[in-house]
Amino acid sequence: MHLFTEGFDRLTHAYVQLLRVAFALSPSVGIGYLLFFQDPDQHYASLAFHELAIAVAIVTSLFITVVTWRCYQASGEPLLRWLTLAFLGFSVIYAPHGLFTSHAAHHPILFLIYGPVSRIVMNAFLLIGILSFGEAAHAPAERRSRRFWLGWLAAFLVLDLVLGGFAVSPAAQALALRQGLEWSAFGLAVGGLFLMWRRSAGLPLFAIYALSLAMFAQSSLSFILSSAWNHQWWLAHAISAAGFLLLSYGVLRAYQTTRSFSTVYSQEVIMRQLESANEQLTLLATTDVLTSTANRRHFLERAASELARCRRNATAVSLIVIDLDHFKRVNDTWGHQAGDAVLGFVARQIDGMLRGSDLLGRLGGEEFAVLLPGTQRQDAIVTARRICEHVGNEALIYGDVSIRVTLSLGVAEFPANGETLDAIYGEADRQLYAAKAAGRNRVMPSA
Ligand code: GH3
Ligand code: MG
Ligand code: MG
Repeated sequence: MHLFTEGFDRLTHAYVQLLRVAFALSPSVGIGYLLFFQDPDQHYASLAFHELAIAVAIVTSLFITVVTWRCYQASGEPLLRWLTLAFLGFSVIYAPHGLFTSHAAHHPILFLIYGPVSRIVMNAFLLIGILSFGEAAHAPAERRSRRFWLGWLAAFLVLDLVLGGFAVSPAAQALALRQGLEWSAFGLAVGGLFLMWRRSAGLPLFAIYALSLAMFAQSSLSFILSSAWNHQWWLAHAISAAGFLLLSYGVLRAYQTTRSFSTVYSQEVIMRQLESANEQLTLLATTDVLTSTANRRHFLERAASELARCRRNATAVSLIVIDLDHFKRVNDTWGHQAGDAVLGFVARQIDGMLRGSDLLGRLGGEEFAVLLPGTQRQDAIVTARRICEHVGNEALIYGDVSIRVTLSLGVAEFPANGETLDAIYGEADRQLYAAKAAGRNRVMPSA
């Protein structure tokens, strides 16, 4: 059964991987469909729609640039700096592609060249970003460096101008050039994907990052197979937009959580961390720090539920309350720290004499209690005597002194001595005081 569950778990993980690959490759269905079933000469040459689409893309891209920049300012994660440059570079270099839409007819290269170059720049920065993964966060001063940001902005603007000048030159007219540029964008996206595959283990935002790289690679492929204004060309835009939207979704997830890509964890990891944090909290909330026994609240809660269980099962449960004799003298003679050490020592001695089902707790100060489920008073008295004798005979070596303490113990049983926890505790406490009054270092009742 266990083997089956393990195998099934592995199957679900494999299926998730398969889903990711299938989703990542889904644009190829459209690309293939248009390639094999659609007349490539069918065009939809709407300048207005193209202008609108590019305008929306640029506004969105600038918005995401700012969001990414703010994430980087907050976390200093190097990856986010490259991601900011990827979005900024894309916005600045892609914008002329929209601006020159109306020149498409007489200056087709001027119109077209900004597309593949913007994708090269974006994919290149995405790839550098992956390479920077795991590097230490940048210092705040470095994050804000005006020279860095203005320098890159200027470089992108200069590239726009250079491309504009180049596009109208005869050398730029070759179709092979544009195809070559688009293949470069494709290569960078595939290269990025390859690097991711080796580095991104289990981080959900990296899965999104990888998915968008897959989209960018396929959009380049679609552009390579297209000619301006045909359906493959429009599809290429749509695939590119899909990749962009996915990546911007990833950035917004980072923004809304930790503002860093590498510290947004998967639900599985978070659930595991939460469970272990809860376990630790429970331990802290139920344990007495000094003696590592149950604290008062936890002991009384357990005692109440044990009593209820024994009532249902008509079995006995006994309670021993224990107080250290003349403990004030220990503090007065050897100091409070020695007193603390004695409390821990005594707790360990008592605990070592109990059964697994018994529970030892520190009710306060130098008073302990033991709950013994399924034990009648006579047997509890025997246990209490053994504890009394054992602790009385042991000495704690503290520095160069040897400290010996004795105990007074009171025993009571449910149901023989009462029906409620208060009644049992009250009776055990009375027996404890009887033990003190009778000279300490003893168990009451005596039989
Ligand atoms: P008795 O035999 O009557 O119980 O005498 P006693 O001195 O043990 O009783 P008393 O109640 O007068 O004093 C208890 C002392 O326990 C007083 C307090 O300083 C000490 N005590 C309580 N809690 C702690 C603790 O956490 N650490 C240390 N070192 N001492 C503690
Ligand atoms: Mg005492
Ligand atoms: Mg006391």
